[in-house]
Amino acid sequence: MNRHARRAAAAKQKSQAGYRSRLAAAFTSGALRIEPGTVGHVTVLHDDDCQIDAGRCTCRPDIIRRTGSTVEIIDEEGAVEERPLS
Ligand SMILES: [Zn+2]
Repeated sequence: MNRHARRAAAAKQKSQAGYRSRLAAAFTSGALRIEPGTVGHVTVLHDDDCQIDAGRCTCRPDIIRRTGSTVEIIDEEGAVEERPLS
């Protein structure tokens, strides 16, 4: 891999890391909703080698939200899939 390819791969990896853009996409598209006057909680499950403790997420964490009898899974594009809790 040449220098240009390495830089392109690093930039792509960097842009795919983190969770804020996925949450923003989920809220912006309306796939993830929080009713006015309520509080919503999501769980962000970082990889073991993520650098979040140093202040920057370097992984693509699993993001879920539990809602009563279901769990919502926020995918890589910010889309939300709802599954029943087992
Ligand atoms: Zn992370």
